[in-house]
This record gives sequence, structure tokens and C-alpha cells, in this order.
Amino acid sequence: MVYDLVIRSRRAVLPDGTRAAAVAVSGSTIAAIDEYAAPFGAHREIDLGDLALLPGLVDTHVHVNEPGRTEWEGFATATRAAAAGGVTTICDMPLNSVPPTVSVTALREKQAAAAGKCWIDVAFWGGAVPGNGDCLLPLHEAGVVGFKCFTLDSGVPEFPPLDAAGIRAALGPLAAMDSVLIVHAEDAGEIKAVSGRDFGSFVASRPPVAERRAIEKVISAAAATGARAHIVHLSAAECVAMIAGAKAAGIRLSAETCPHYLYFAAEQVPDGATEFKCCPPIRDAINREALWRGLEAGVIDCVVSDHSPCPPELKSPDSGDFGEAWGGIASLQVSLSAVWTVARRRGRTLDDVARWMAAGPAALAGLTAKGRLVVGADADLVAFDPDEAWVVDPARLEHRHPVTPYAGRTLTGRVRQTWLAGAALLGAESRAPDGEPAGRLLNRG
Ligand SMILES: [Zn+2]
Repeated sequence: MVYDLVIRSRRAVLPDGTRAAAVAVSGSTIAAIDEYAAPFGAHREIDLGDLALLPGLVDTHVHVNEPGRTEWEGFATATRAAAAGGVTTICDMPLNSVPPTVSVTALREKQAAAAGKCWIDVAFWGGAVPGNGDCLLPLHEAGVVGFKCFTLDSGVPEFPPLDAAGIRAALGPLAAMDSVLIVHAEDAGEIKAVSGRDFGSFVASRPPVAERRAIEKVISAAAATGARAHIVHLSAAECVAMIAGAKAAGIRLSAETCPHYLYFAAEQVPDGATEFKCCPPIRDAINREALWRGLEAGVIDCVVSDHSPCPPELKSPDSGDFGEAWGGIASLQVSLSAVWTVARRRGRTLDDVARWMAAGPAALAGLTAKGRLVVGADADLVAFDPDEAWVVDPARLEHRHPVTPYAGRTLTGRVRQTWLAGAALLGAESRAPDGEPAGRLLNRG
């Protein structure tokens, strides 16, 4: 047997641990994995030496915003940034695009907008909004990986929230389909309107209790219906115990947090620095430490970007007013390095990072061929130098807009190459993809 490609690495991050290994690719899939010096015959052979070989990351929380708000981001730019950041699959959020993905017609419109533009594979979340109950099963059958809802104003009028009864009403049919409801969990009743340049006031306006009250509702709805529910972008670490308790009780609940909650602390955010605004907010260093412990304990299942950019004039208004600025952080391209920078300092390994950022999100979205270096999986791979330090230069980011709170930060760990379905993506200096976009639009499974 002559394989198309063999990649050898002394640090291959396999599901059962990191070790020296050779990964053989046939067509677009991993065909064999054996010891480093295995005598595989191949048309092309790459020896990464001490560079780590990771499964391509799966980022289940990306707002691409196309069609309708393509000036905010878009499939071409988002997926270029993803490729440069070692992400080989994204799941696009159903809102901020126009139309939002709340019907099969809207899904088809989005898929048409994405076709031919994607450098990596793209799957889609559907939306659960008031009045679209009849659309859930057709969307599921059309291949969405699950459904997103909000418990409060989403920030865009075309994607209204569900109340507690609405969440239960959506979860019933989702249980029958064995789909998942992913929830932006903040309770509007605990949130105060705020304006001004003071970051502390903004954080105080969205206290941890706002997350707690909303998560309580999600847990009771999941318990009552037996359906799968998932908390997106958990920021308030005090909710970790509640989530752990629900899991221990057999309730089908999972949770994610984001690189910015694990990397930044509110104390470091200058007044008027609206590039740090997201909802729920980045909290203090004590909360960050507790969030890390929740992740390390396995209560938090995934780390995904919540990449949610917008044009600079909306993100960084001259006023520096946190009430005025769009809430969303652009980090698709730097997520892996940001998480690894802190994780390695804490004595965590690349096995942990691969579980949080590849296998965990793939399992959430039911993408069985993604997120793990195993025979039969898609040959989505990343060569990663875990020791290289680099400074984030916004001008070198592939996101449509270069605004990011990571600007000027020194991060550790750099993506050197990304392969999608066995094909190398990155050109000179490992910066941006080369050639033609060959990403596929994925259905669940
Ligand atoms: Zn989001």
C-alpha cells in the first residue's frame, strides 16, 4: 500500500496521549497510525521532528455574519483566519447574518453564500426563536448541527430570545431528534443598562448572578425534557458547581468557555478599551482562576472562540463608551496560541488543549469525523510549534477587520502548517492559505 502522504512527528497528539508517531493519509482520510519510524510507503513524506502534530481544531462558536452583514466578516475572511490559526472546521452561528438561520430557506441562502469561498470545512447551527417551532425538524433534517437560542436580547432584532416556556417548548422536539440546544444564558432581569468609558461599571452591570439565573432555567428545562442543552461562553465561574451538579444528576448538559475569559482579567482592561467588550463580560483574575479550575476538572467541556467581529467604527467608537460599542471579540486566528500560552504555564499539556479545542467541540456538534487523530477520521491536521513566542500584529491577521484585544500581546505556540483533508493550506511564512478554497459545507454526522 502506498499512501498519499505520511507525516511523522515526535509529538503526535493522539486520543490516548502524545507520543512519537507516523500518520498516513489516503485520499482525504487518516488511513493508518503507527510508530514514528514505521516503514510506510508514500507519495509525499513530511517529518515534523519536534513540532507537535495536532488534530485540526473545531471551533463551534463563530459568527461569520454572511449574508447580510458581510462587511462585518464573511466566509472567505473568517475561514482564511481559521486556517492560519489551526482551525479546520467551524460551526457558523445562526445570527448576525441576514436572514438568520431559522428556516431551511434561510439555511439554503447561507449555504449558497458560503459555497466556493471556504478555506476550511463549515457546518451550521440553526436558530430557535419565538414562532419557528415548525422549522426545527426540517432544519435538523437539512443537516444543522443543533440549535442556538438566547435568553435575552441578542443585540440584533431579527433574532429574538426565548423565555423559559419557549426553551422548554423547543427542547421537547429536540429530545426526540437527539439534537442539542445551545444557549446564550444571561437573565435580563439581573442586568442594568450602562454607559461610559469605565470597564468596571460595564462588568458590574452584567453580574455573575445574571448567568446563574439563566443557567438555572436551562438546567430545569433539560431535566424536565431529557434533552441535551449546552451553555455557550460561560464567564461566571460561580456557575461551575451548578453545572457539575446537573451533570452528576444525569442531566444532559455541557458548557464551553472562551479564550478571552481564560487569558484576560478585568483589572487589566483600560477604560474606553471597547475591543474587550463581550457579553457576558471578562471578569476579574479570581474568576479567571476558578474558570480554569472548572475546565481542568472537566466540568467545562470545550474552549471555542465566540469570534464575533464587526466594523471598527461599531467596535471602537470614538467615545470609548461601553454602552455604545458592539459586544464581540475577534480571536479566531489566535485562539489556540492564547489558550496554550496560559495552559502550558499551568502545567497542562497539548492533550488537554486538543480535548478542549478539537475533540470536545466535535462531540458537541456531532461531527464524528473531526477533532481526533484516529484511523478513519478526516485528515485535518496542524503542525504546531509549542515553544515559539510571537507578538500579535493586527496587520497580519486574516480577519476582515484587524481590531482585537490581543494586539501587541506575546503569545506562545505558533501554527506552522494546517492540512485540510490531507492538503496543505498555508503558504509562505505559514501565514495565509494559498491556492483555491476547498473547504466543504458539512452536515451533522
Ligand atoms: Zn456568540
